Amino acid sequence: MSETPVILWLRRDLRLADHPALTAAAKAGPVIPVFIRDHSVDSLGAAARWRLGEGLRAFAETLEARGLRLILRRGNARDVLRELVDETGAREVHWSRLYDPEAIERDTEVKSALKDAGITAESHTGHLLFEPWTVETKDGGFYKVYSPFWRAVKDRHIDEPLPTPEVTAPVTWPDSDVLEDWRLGEAMKRGAAILAKHCKPGAEAATARLGAFMAHKVDAYKTDRDLPAEDATSRMSEYLTYGEISPRQCWAAGARAMEDGKKGAEHYLKELVWREFAYHLVYHTPQIMTDNWRPEWDAFPWRDDERLAEVKAWKQGRTGVPFVDAAMREMYVTGYMHNRARMIVASYLTKHCMIHWRVGQRWFDDCLIDWDPASNALGWQWTAGSGPDAAPYFRVFNPETQAEKFDPRHHYLKRWIAEGQARPPETATDYFAAIPRRWGLSPEDAYPGRPVVGLKEGREAALEAYAHREWAE
Ligand code: FAD
Repeated sequence: MSETPVILWLRRDLRLADHPALTAAAKAGPVIPVFIRDHSVDSLGAAARWRLGEGLRAFAETLEARGLRLILRRGNARDVLRELVDETGAREVHWSRLYDPEAIERDTEVKSALKDAGITAESHTGHLLFEPWTVETKDGGFYKVYSPFWRAVKDRHIDEPLPTPEVTAPVTWPDSDVLEDWRLGEAMKRGAAILAKHCKPGAEAATARLGAFMAHKVDAYKTDRDLPAEDATSRMSEYLTYGEISPRQCWAAGARAMEDGKKGAEHYLKELVWREFAYHLVYHTPQIMTDNWRPEWDAFPWRDDERLAEVKAWKQGRTGVPFVDAAMREMYVTGYMHNRARMIVASYLTKHCMIHWRVGQRWFDDCLIDWDPASNALGWQWTAGSGPDAAPYFRVFNPETQAEKFDPRHHYLKRWIAEGQARPPETATDYFAAIPRRWGLSPEDAYPGRPVVGLKEGREAALEAYAHREWAE
């Protein structure tokens, strides 16, 4: 092995195990792990940026325990990497590929600038199980429907996860910014302390959680995954977002559970593949992140105005529709929202309230600690009806019947809505400690007497607009 240091440029891959880029870098020389605060970091929503800071802290501690460091730098990635190459004498830079359009543009530019300077620049797999261009239909196109995508990949051979490699430290370390000086949690204000109660960052926590899920919960996953009051899902989303666990580690654990005869395991693998499908679509049709995937929806009379009373009520968890409000508060307090609840709040906003899905997407961007560019865009367009393989617009979720079916004893509602409870739980009162004071809300307020948009009227108006198909011509 050469003594010349190798730069490992970290982005959404804050782990040591099953890390092909790290494994390659460690083989080539002493490793300098670097994280760059560039536009992709500064454009993150408040909760996602806070969570990134927590992940960086945990990862830096893991590195330090091995005699390594996490070098933090700020600026344009191409310039920072070129500077670091000059400072350290490194001749190679490795990173794990990302697939959203902004990352692809940046990484392409970085790669060519480094190559022009005579530096080896290598991107690796790791963020996905299946590179988006390797899954093709019979005609050589990409998949637009999930089920055939699943059938195309489910029997593929997937290598076992890589072990943590031996990593050597360089003789001298370049300077680093101090993480605290970056103040990544600044925009969260007082909500940060509340979020922190619900968040265990880092690869170690991810692995422990995955192990516990596979040991105790995956068996019942297929049915219980729909119950928002139960802790019945893997909660891997935030760890996958920051790469504190790899999809291959999740797949391997699920495949082992399947071999062990755990009933819900195959369904778990199927859900994991929804994430792959989201990236497949983002890669092949990047406009899914910003525009109606089906352009005929451009003429639909959705309202895209943040100032509307319905938008305010939705964001503040004060629509007067208990399931919707509980879910919006769950997200505000924990940075996470149960999958069924995500579909219900998205349906209420885009259908009953006829608000553009982009308004909801932006709010999720700001509030989710598991924010993922591909899954969020697909989730919104799927629910709104404008996306590929979408729920048809005329299928409108009814939050009341959904609550009866999936939260019959109102545990979820009581956990999150304080108003009207003599002794509300801490989760419900924490909401009021987390929200901005200027919202002027208190747990002693009366709960809204009637919904901001009634379920019957909202449904009828949405279906009426949908039936009025001139917009689709
Ligand atoms: P599990 O049920 O344990 O599933 C395992 C893994 O499979 C998840 O961690 C996730 O990586 C993947 N997965 C499961 N369901 C989906 C799905 N529908 N789409 C894509 N991947 C899935 N997921 C995000 O990670 N980030 C987002 O920003 C995001 N925004 C969403 C917005 C809307 C409107 C909707 C309807 C869904 C969104 N999802 C998003 C998908 C899904 O709700 C979450 O992935 C899931 O709730 C995470 O919980 P879990 O890790 O316990 O999931």
